[in-house]
Amino acid sequence: FATPAMATANNKERSFIMIKPDGVQRSLIADIIKRFEQKGYKLIGIKVLVPAKQLAEAHYEEHAQRPFFQKLVSFLSSGAVVAMVWEGQEVIKFSRNMIGATNPLASAPGTIRGDFGVDFGHNVIHGSDSLTSAEREIALWFKSEELAQYDLTMQAWTYE
Ligand code: GDP
Ligand code: MG
Repeated sequence: FATPAMATANNKERSFIMIKPDGVQRSLIADIIKRFEQKGYKLIGIKVLVPAKQLAEAHYEEHAQRPFFQKLVSFLSSGAVVAMVWEGQEVIKFSRNMIGATNPLASAPGTIRGDFGVDFGHNVIHGSDSLTSAEREIALWFKSEELAQYDLTMQAWTYE
C-alpha cells in the first residue's frame, strides 16, 4: 500500500502544487502558501525556477495532443514558478478543492482560482489531480534529497 506519495500513515500523502508565472507576477505567492499552511498541511519542498520548455512539456504531457498545448508550455516556461510539495491527509483531493475549477470563472468564490483568477490560460496555480499524477510530478520536479523530512509540533494539534 505504501508508495512515495502515500507513505504508511494517512497524513503522509503528498501533492505537487505549483504557483504558475501569472501567480508569481501578481504577487500571490504568500497568499497561496498561507492557505495551505493554515489548513494544516506541511510544506516539505519548495523552489523558485523558470522551467525549461522541456520540463514544461513533460509536466503537461497528458495534454500534448490538445490545441492549446504549445501555448500552455510556452506560458509555463515564460517566467518564474514556485514549485512545492505539500503533505497531509487527503492533500491531493483537498488541494484540488482549494484550487477550484480549471476555468476560474467557474470556480467558486473562496477557492484560489475563484478568488484570484479570471482566465483559463492564467489560472494561477497547478495541483496534482490523482495519486499517480502526484507521484509522477513530484519525481519530475524534485530530487528526493530536496524533500525535507521533519516533524511539525503543531501536527499533534491538527490531527487527533
Ligand atoms: P487543471 O488540472 O485544472 O489545471 O486543468 P487541466 O489539467 O485540464 O489543464 C491544464 C492547464 O491547461 C489548465 O490549468 C489551463 O491553464 C490550461 N487549459 C486547460 N484547458 C484549456 C482550454 O480549453 N483552453 C486553454 N486556453 N487552456 C486550457
Ligand atoms: Mg491537470
